[in-house]
Amino acid sequence: MRANPPKFSFHREIFCLLNSCAFSASGYPLVMTVRTRFAPSPTGVLHLGSVRTALFCWLYARHHGGQFILRIEDTDRARSTPENVEAILEGLAWLGLNADEGPFYQTQRFDRYRDVTDRWLAEGKAYHCYCSREELAALREEQMRAGGRVRYDGRCRDRKTPREGVVPVVRFRNPLDGQVIVSDQVRGRVVFENAQLDDLIITRADGTPTYNFTVIIDDHDMGITHVVRGDDHLNNTPRQMNMLAALGAEVPAYAHLPMILGADGAKLSKRHGAVDIRDYERQGYLPEAMLNYLVRLGWSHGDQEIFSIDEMVRLFDIADINQSASAFNAEKLLWLNQQHIMAAPLERIGKELVPYLQEAGLNPDDGPAPVDIAEGFRERAETLLQMAASARYCYEDFEHIEPKAAKKNLRPVILEPLIAVRDHFASLPKWDRAIIAGAIEDIAAKFEINMGKLGQPIRVAVTGGSVSPPIDVTIWLVGKERTLKRLDHAIELIRERAAGS
Ligand code: GLU
Repeated sequence: MRANPPKFSFHREIFCLLNSCAFSASGYPLVMTVRTRFAPSPTGVLHLGSVRTALFCWLYARHHGGQFILRIEDTDRARSTPENVEAILEGLAWLGLNADEGPFYQTQRFDRYRDVTDRWLAEGKAYHCYCSREELAALREEQMRAGGRVRYDGRCRDRKTPREGVVPVVRFRNPLDGQVIVSDQVRGRVVFENAQLDDLIITRADGTPTYNFTVIIDDHDMGITHVVRGDDHLNNTPRQMNMLAALGAEVPAYAHLPMILGADGAKLSKRHGAVDIRDYERQGYLPEAMLNYLVRLGWSHGDQEIFSIDEMVRLFDIADINQSASAFNAEKLLWLNQQHIMAAPLERIGKELVPYLQEAGLNPDDGPAPVDIAEGFRERAETLLQMAASARYCYEDFEHIEPKAAKKNLRPVILEPLIAVRDHFASLPKWDRAIIAGAIEDIAAKFEINMGKLGQPIRVAVTGGSVSPPIDVTIWLVGKERTLKRLDHAIELIRERAAGS
């Protein structure tokens, strides 16, 4: 459920008072608590790249005992949707990336942005620009023809009079010269020339604020100490730093994360798999496996691959983030998921398996306890979805035995041993794994065949296929009634075959 957005407009003081940090005379907190934020735009669902950003922000805050803030950057009203907000909140909740504050919605903070715009206009830090679309297009064309950089040339900077009938935009008066040095915690020192940055529109003609402007006000008001985000925002950073200076605000530390690529080297997209993180939940991945997988995309701790969430919190450091892009590898994610399925408490896996069984059309009450399925199948299942699908024969009768498996394993030579097994099972007073295992061993010995020669035909008979957990476990899970019925059916098949041949 979407939490109620805050109704009030709040400033840094309120944020920080809520978090009881002490202030110096200059207004900056004396004791710096790490405060990170995840600031998705709900113009799309929560995808792997943004989850990794959220994770790194969350881990860094947790590692330092700080706060993790969730801010929904929904100023693009045309493209932001409540469904995407829902997708973001649900995805984060599933992953356990809980925010200490927020979600804060930028659309609730327009008064604050307007105040800053007005102040900057009054102070000359921003100015009205009356240029029409056509004028800007002509400027662009001219600059392109001249082979130069395409940028706004500041022609309204010193304009004293409004243009009749034109509602202006507001532009930030960017410094004309000098450099902006970003000391990025991942990328190192990155130098930008102010001469290369044009005067950014901070408020559109319709009065709505733009991304770079709202971000710096929010980062300041929310007392953000560390901005961790994708490196597609690196080029925005000098502009944001200039505006933070205009606001009289301290510049946070920046860490720009390298991109995640698909296995083919292209930027990760729909083509490479699920886009919505919730699809991974539907496919039966565990949240901790997703986080473990994502933490390793760009961060490492020696050559360790498997991390519990506590370990990630304990070991994570921005200093260990790699500079190079990392590639998404679906197979590794599956492998890690399997590792985490193995490491999780069985009771939990059993409980989490239930909706997957139901989704597969199976009734978890008509068969073994899901926790027993979890124990029997977890060594083979890479996802809970797979586990539910593989366990189908434990809950539901199958129509046909796989023809190849039947042909190979259900042959007349095994008829007598199978009948012996069937009769022995029928006489068992207790359906117990050890007793089942002992019975198969005894019958194999009696007929002087090895266990495998007997086990596989039984497997094919009771599961309809040739792959299952160890045979005693399989039989135990399938249950007495179903086992006897299926053995009868297999015996019948063999007899028919023998008669027909
Ligand atoms: N809202 C921006 C995005 O979704 C992120 C802004 C930021 O982290 O500064 O890309």
